[in-house]
Amino acid sequence: MADEKLTTNKGIPISNDQASMTTGEGSNYTLLQDVQLIEKLAHFDRERIPERVVHAKGAGAHGYFEVTNDLSKYTRAKFLSKVGKRTEIFSRMSTVGGERGSADAKRDPRGFAVKFYTEEGNYDLVGNNIPIFFIRDAIKFPDFIHTQKRHPSNNLANADMFWDFLSLTPESLHQATFLFTDRGTPQNYRHMDGFSSHTYMWYNEKDEYVWVKYHFKTSQGNRTLTNDESIKMCGENPDHATEDLYNSIETGDYPQWDVYVQIMTNDEAKEYKFDPFDVTKVWYHGDYPLIPLGKMVLNRNPENYFVEVEQVAFAPSNFVPGISPSPDRLLQGRLFAYEDTQRHRLGPNHHQIPINRAKNAKINNYQRDGPMDVDDNGGSTPNYYPNSQGGPVQDISFKPPAVEVQAVIDKHTRPVEDVDFVQVGEFWRRVLNNTDKNNLVGNIVGHLGNAQERIQYRQTSLFYRAEPEYGTRVGEGLGLDIKRVKMLAEMSQEDRVEATKI
Ligand code: NDP
Repeated sequence: MADEKLTTNKGIPISNDQASMTTGEGSNYTLLQDVQLIEKLAHFDRERIPERVVHAKGAGAHGYFEVTNDLSKYTRAKFLSKVGKRTEIFSRMSTVGGERGSADAKRDPRGFAVKFYTEEGNYDLVGNNIPIFFIRDAIKFPDFIHTQKRHPSNNLANADMFWDFLSLTPESLHQATFLFTDRGTPQNYRHMDGFSSHTYMWYNEKDEYVWVKYHFKTSQGNRTLTNDESIKMCGENPDHATEDLYNSIETGDYPQWDVYVQIMTNDEAKEYKFDPFDVTKVWYHGDYPLIPLGKMVLNRNPENYFVEVEQVAFAPSNFVPGISPSPDRLLQGRLFAYEDTQRHRLGPNHHQIPINRAKNAKINNYQRDGPMDVDDNGGSTPNYYPNSQGGPVQDISFKPPAVEVQAVIDKHTRPVEDVDFVQVGEFWRRVLNNTDKNNLVGNIVGHLGNAQERIQYRQTSLFYRAEPEYGTRVGEGLGLDIKRVKMLAEMSQEDRVEATKI
C-alpha cells in the first residue's frame, strides 16, 4: 500500500494533496481550476446517504448458517435441505429509535437482521430481540415511531408523546412490558436472542404448507444491563455494543446463536386460542415447542463499515422458494416499506452493491437502467419478455401454494379485547422473578413519571388490567390513587380515554 501513488477519483496522479492552488504564497486567492480540490470537497459534501428512519445505529458481521436438523419435509428452501449444509450470511444488529451516532446502551428494542446468500437468491429475516411488537397494523407504524423520536417543537425526547400513544394503543402493552424489563437494555448484541416476531409460511414440493416463527437463542446466554448501568454506559461508551461485537470477532471469540422454529399447521391456526398471526402475541412454548433448525455463527468483521454495514439493505420481502409471508398485517406493510426505504436510501439498483448482491444465485431478468446501474445491464440481450431470442424464462415449478381467502374488503378495525391482556399477565406471573419485577416496576416508574399525570393513570390502568399486582406496584411507585387506577382498568378503552382526556 505504501508504494501506491495517490490519485483523483478518475485515477489521475496527484502531485500535492496538502496545498490548494493559489495566486501566491501565504494568504491568497484559490483557483477554481484546482479541480483536485473541487473533487475532494464535492465528494466530501456528499458523504452521507439518508439515515435509516429506524435502526439507524447498528453493527454488522459476516458468518454462516448451518442446518443441524432436517426440516425439509416442511419447506423446499434449498438452503435448509440437509443437515450440515452451510450458507453464507451477513447480520446487522441495531438500536431502533436513536440516530446514527446515538448510544448503543439506550432502552430500545434491538434489530436482529440476517441476510442468507442462498443458491436460490438472497433471503432476509428482519427481526428483533423481542418476539412481539407494539402494534399489529402497519398503518400505525409512522405514528408509533414519531412518538419514540423527538418532539416537533424542541427536538427533545418526550415522555408525554411516548406514553400517550402507548396508552391509547393497548395492544402495545405486551411489548412495552418486555421493553421495560432489563431485556430492553441487553448487555450487548452477542448476549441477546433474536426473533422473526412475524409468522411466515413454509411450503414443500407438494405445496403443503405450515406456519413458522423463528427463534435465535444466544449461545453466550442472555445478559442485561440494569437501568443505572445502561445510563452509565451511554455516557462512558456510546459505541459499547458495536465495539464488543467487533472485538469479540477480531479475537476469534465468534458469537453463535442456536436457531429454532415453532411450527403450526393451518388447521391448528384456525383453532388456536388467539389469532396466531397477531404480532403482539407469542405462541406458547407449551403448545408449540422450539424445534431445532440450525446455528448461526458470526466469524468475520466487515472490511469497511460504510460499504457493508451502512449499505446493507434488508427487506422482509426477500423470500426464497419454500418461504412466503403470512397474513400478519404488520408484515404485510413491511413487505412494501423496507424495499421502498432501500430504494430511497440507496437507489433502485441497490441490489448491485456487493453486500446486497445475490452472490450464490444468478440474476436473470428484463429490468434495465436506472441510477447507478453498475453491472453489465443485461449487455446486448433482450430487454423484454416474452421473447423468442433465447432470454431467461419463468419456471412455474417455483410457484408458492394457492391460499384460499374469503374476503370482505373494508378498513377492519381491530378492537382491544380481553385476550390482548392475557399474555402480559402470564409474563408477570409465570416468567418474571422478584428481581425482574422490581426492576420492571422501577424502570417504568422512572420513565412514565415524566409524563402528565392523566397519562400515567391511563397507562397504569392497562398494567392493572393485565395483572392487578403489576398495576398496583407501578401505581404505588408513581404515587397514584390505586382505587382510581382500578376503576379505570375496569372501563372500556373508550371510557378510559374519555376519563383521562385533557
Ligand atoms: P415459557 O414460560 O415457556 O418461557 C418463558 C420465556 O420468557 C422464555 O423464552 C424466556 O427466555 C423468556 N424470558 C424470561 N425472562 C424474560 C424477561 N425478563 N424478558 C423477556 N423474556 C423473558 O413461555 P411461554 O411460551 O409459556 O409464554 C409465557 C410468557 O412468556 C408469554 O406470555 C410471553 O410474555 C413470554 N415469552 C414467551 C415467548 C414465546 O415465544 N413463547 C418468548 C419470550 C417470552 P429465555 O429462555 O431466553 O430466558
